[in-house]
Amino acid sequence: MTEIGNDRRLAAVWRDARVVDVRHHGDIAVVLRLDVPDRVLHRPGQHYVVRLRAEDGYTASRSYSTVSAPSDDLVELYVERVPDGEVSGFLAEVVEPGDELEVRGPIGRWFVWDGYGPALGIGGGSGVAPLVSMLRHAREVGRPELLSLAVSARTAADLPYREELEAAGALVALSREPGGFRLDAAAVGAIADPGATALVCGSARFTLAMESHLLAAGQPADTIRVERFGPSGEIDEDEAST
Ligand SMILES: Cc1cc2nc3c(=O)[nH]c(=O)nc-3n(C[C@H](O)[C@H](O)[C@H](O)COP(=O)(O)OP(=O)(O)OC[C@H]3O[C@@H](n4cnc5c(N)ncnc54)[C@H](O)[C@@H]3O)c2cc1C
Repeated sequence: MTEIGNDRRLAAVWRDARVVDVRHHGDIAVVLRLDVPDRVLHRPGQHYVVRLRAEDGYTASRSYSTVSAPSDDLVELYVERVPDGEVSGFLAEVVEPGDELEVRGPIGRWFVWDGYGPALGIGGGSGVAPLVSMLRHAREVGRPELLSLAVSARTAADLPYREELEAAGALVALSREPGGFRLDAAAVGAIADPGATALVCGSARFTLAMESHLLAAGQPADTIRVERFGPSGEIDEDEAST
């Protein structure tokens, strides 16, 4: 492994990662743990691109955030199964331990947290994935108090890494559980922290709402960083330089 950082040239190289572990979460999602040869250590918040290749040469590439801490020997990805999803469906249904997957990364320079300053992570559904990487890193560097988390899903079953997040003291909003609540303007207003970097991740709808609640609560715009998990489509070859 090379040193942690942003070696964009090395991160742009496609590598054949070996699938070491596959954990299915019903038909909702799959957790893949990959052995990536000669990998560049990621910064919490960065993502990988996974490329599937058919025998006729057709390829499909999608982005998946790292869930693991940089120090983990393996790269962990959480893949939510999207209805009729080309890549998520294959990863959730077909991939087995021992398979090889083409990957490229780590990618991303903006939505990262290295464990130094105070941060507020807000994630919806699979958008908690990069926040769990940040949480694991915060524990590893002995600075868990720097990272506050608020996460949201419809039900307990829909929230990835729920037990780990709850154990870390995250504010857990489950909108369709009895006694549950939403991350609405009041809830976000109560956790907004102008002195922290706010890292918001999830669907376009979720991130837009959270950004607007944060701004209304006085969170300065230049402290808010957003990662949207919308349809990613084919990845441009130049993306590794973003
Ligand atoms: C930077 C980045 C990081 C990401 N990290 C993760 C991650 O850690 N875990 C994860 O599960 N996903 C993540 N995504 C989303 C992921 O890249 C894919 O978009 C997703 O897996 C769907 O791909 P697919 O090929 O299965 O679906 P497609 O075949 O591309 O789409 C099938 C249908 O689903 C819709 N759709 C596509 N993507 C989504 C979505 N995310 N939510 C709802 N509907 C969708 C499409 O509009 C289409 O109608 C990330 C996206 C980005 C841009």
